[in-house]
Amino acid sequence: MKTPSRRHILTAFGAAVGAGALAACTTEAGPSTSPGGGQPDASVGGDGPHTSAGAIGRHPPTSDVVADGKQALERLLAGNARFVAAQEQDLDEGIARRIAVSKGQHPFATILGCVDSRVPIELVFDQGLGDLVVVRSAGGALDRSVIGSLEFGVTELHTPLLLVLGHQRCGALDATIKALDKPTSHPGKLGYLVDTLAPAVRQTFGKPGDRLTNAVHANVTHVLAELRQSPVIAPLEKSGKLQLTGAYYELDTGKVTLEP
Ligand SMILES: [Zn+2]
Repeated sequence: MKTPSRRHILTAFGAAVGAGALAACTTEAGPSTSPGGGQPDASVGGDGPHTSAGAIGRHPPTSDVVADGKQALERLLAGNARFVAAQEQDLDEGIARRIAVSKGQHPFATILGCVDSRVPIELVFDQGLGDLVVVRSAGGALDRSVIGSLEFGVTELHTPLLLVLGHQRCGALDATIKALDKPTSHPGKLGYLVDTLAPAVRQTFGKPGDRLTNAVHANVTHVLAELRQSPVIAPLEKSGKLQLTGAYYELDTGKVTLEP
């Protein structure tokens, strides 16, 4: 069991302070709180009501929290470092944060991940309500809804980063390898998933190393290439307004590493 984080305490306290202070929060705090979550707030400690931004929560829903994809990536990796060290600070789903983002959102990254129960995106990056646009499908398989959802994140919500996150021991890619080794019929739409993931898996046939790990990395590369075909995503990347990045999540350590 995890004890309540400092930020949980902050947000609970912030809710009691009220909406007036909340408004101040959205204007006072800002980039200084990111990337990396910043330093502990000296105003915390239960010594009376505060109206400072820090007393409410440290990531207001403002669009200027990150300037570009590079900063967005730094913020994600800093959050992951906290997750790895079990020192989460910013996983803010508290009442004050919920109120703060209820009228608008300015997420700073769009992420495509797998449905795997062990890779919950907000948790592994230590981010809270309103921080991330998350799209998940088995193996990160792309279809029209997935691509459209990612396009929504980068165009309508203007995130400067689009991250594709593969992960260690991905069951969907493992099933695809097995299906290609020994063709079988799959019920429902499972066959569709295998067919969608198969092109990336085939690229790894005959390569040295662990087959599944190879397939995960190849799939991230494949997905990124596919997304760069999008008439919505491609021009954004070309203009420098959007950064596309691949990454790999290791189940054993919780660590996210960027793909070369
Ligand atoms: Zn998976």
